[in-house]
Amino acid sequence: MSDVVDQLRQALPPEALVTDPDRMESFRYDRAMFCPAGMPLAVVLARETAHVQAAVRIAAEAGVPVVPQGARSGLSGAANALDGCIVISLEKMDRILAIEPVDRYVVTQPGVFNAVLSRAVAEQGLFYPPDPSSWEFCSIGGNLSTNSGGLCCVKYGVTTDYVLGLEVVLADGRVMRTGRRTVKGVAGYDLTKLIVGSEGTLGIITEATLALRPQTARPRTMAALFDTSVAAGQAITEIIRSGVSLSLLEIMDRTTIAAVNQYKRMDLPTEAAAMLLAQSDAGGEAGAADVATVAKLCRDHGAIECIEAEDPAEGELLLEARRAALIALDQLGTTMIDDVCVPRSRLAEFIGLIEGVATELDITVGVLGHAGDGNMHPTVVFDATDPDQAERAQQAFDRIMEVGLELGGTITGEHGVGVLKRTWLAEEIGPVAIDVHRAIKTALDPKNILNPGKVVADEGL
Ligand SMILES: Cc1cc2nc3c(=O)[nH]c(=O)nc-3n(C[C@H](O)[C@H](O)[C@H](O)COP(=O)(O)OP(=O)(O)OC[C@H]3O[C@@H](n4cnc5c(N)ncnc54)[C@H](O)[C@@H]3O)c2cc1C
Repeated sequence: MSDVVDQLRQALPPEALVTDPDRMESFRYDRAMFCPAGMPLAVVLARETAHVQAAVRIAAEAGVPVVPQGARSGLSGAANALDGCIVISLEKMDRILAIEPVDRYVVTQPGVFNAVLSRAVAEQGLFYPPDPSSWEFCSIGGNLSTNSGGLCCVKYGVTTDYVLGLEVVLADGRVMRTGRRTVKGVAGYDLTKLIVGSEGTLGIITEATLALRPQTARPRTMAALFDTSVAAGQAITEIIRSGVSLSLLEIMDRTTIAAVNQYKRMDLPTEAAAMLLAQSDAGGEAGAADVATVAKLCRDHGAIECIEAEDPAEGELLLEARRAALIALDQLGTTMIDDVCVPRSRLAEFIGLIEGVATELDITVGVLGHAGDGNMHPTVVFDATDPDQAERAQQAFDRIMEVGLELGGTITGEHGVGVLKRTWLAEEIGPVAIDVHRAIKTALDPKNILNPGKVVADEGL
């Protein structure tokens, strides 16, 4: 293995290679708890595509696994190192290469943070919609590889809807360019969409061309408070049924609100069992009408209070509270964050069943999520030093996924499978689809060096 390190040393500039165990320690984990992580042989801090190619070629020749990493904010262990692997970190490839206002696209390296890219295009009157709550500390490469969602996806869709084309380093070190820069294009198989969401198992993204939209009008934001979370869920179903086009529809329950108050020193109302946040970016009278419709629907379905934010700054503060929710819950104990997405017609039922699981197992579950998408993040909070609680927490985490599947949902709406949900993937998609996954993986990565064991477990490969 020292041979592999020697080859990396020869192929890369000194600043692009880390072998010091203390420095490598921070490259071992993403933010998922309870996922195994190994110690890498080396970390490559790629500055350009050629560095990625060189490292992949050396790894392929030696049969050493490669783990691509963005900003390690993932919640499924997908970016976790494996013992003896080469971590290829894309965090130093952090330049926006071009913004084209007329053709409405941005060309970017993968290490650019989502918020940095969003602000850069906003300066030119443009809008990049995918906005994970982690946007200040996650990279575009990670967003592409997990097909991230976010707050405004209820109106504008998720990452894959904005990817025009990619530059990808394949498992043998060759560079593949996929897609186009035009509005339309159907030349060949859609290899762009195949790579998006593949969690670093099919190739390493070194450049992306992303579609943009014109900036929207200033949003109007409102909050609605409910006596029960199930009533809030019913109101969401009615809002969706009404056809009103909101740019954001989020939910936080009392546990989550209290955690945010404590963490952010805010003063959100804790007397209600749940709060909905809704936003319309339709502008002018249309935006005012959207907010009025939502307030009426909420009142008709049990809201005890509806409040509209006085100005965009107050609206932004409410969004900040929502974005901080997972980190706030993390301060209360150890957390296991679920990411189940159910059909929106089943949302109220799902919320009721989550509460049932929490009561039955006598464990705290914070209920929050991108309610307008049906994508919930029920977060189990527990004391990991108490083995009995830890056992019940795991049961609750699994039971929530089971219930989601029973309602026709999916085990992951946006965080990905990684190592956390590998066994659940087979449960959801079945043996034939697992075989097809393995066939695609073998076609693109016959030596199984790219992020092995992530998404689909290794057996049978
Ligand atoms: C508090 C909090 C809130 C969050 N909120 C959201 C949310 O609202 N929506 C959402 O979707 N996610 C959310 N996440 C999860 C996470 O931020 C996203 O999954 C994000 O896209 C990961 O980006 P990253 O740069 O950190 O990637 P990493 O965690 O480093 O990697 C994620 C995966 O992508 C692969 N990868 C990374 N870069 C590349 C590349 N260039 N080429 C190939 N593979 C690559 C890795 O191998 C791994 O499989 C949240 C996380 C936290 C901690």
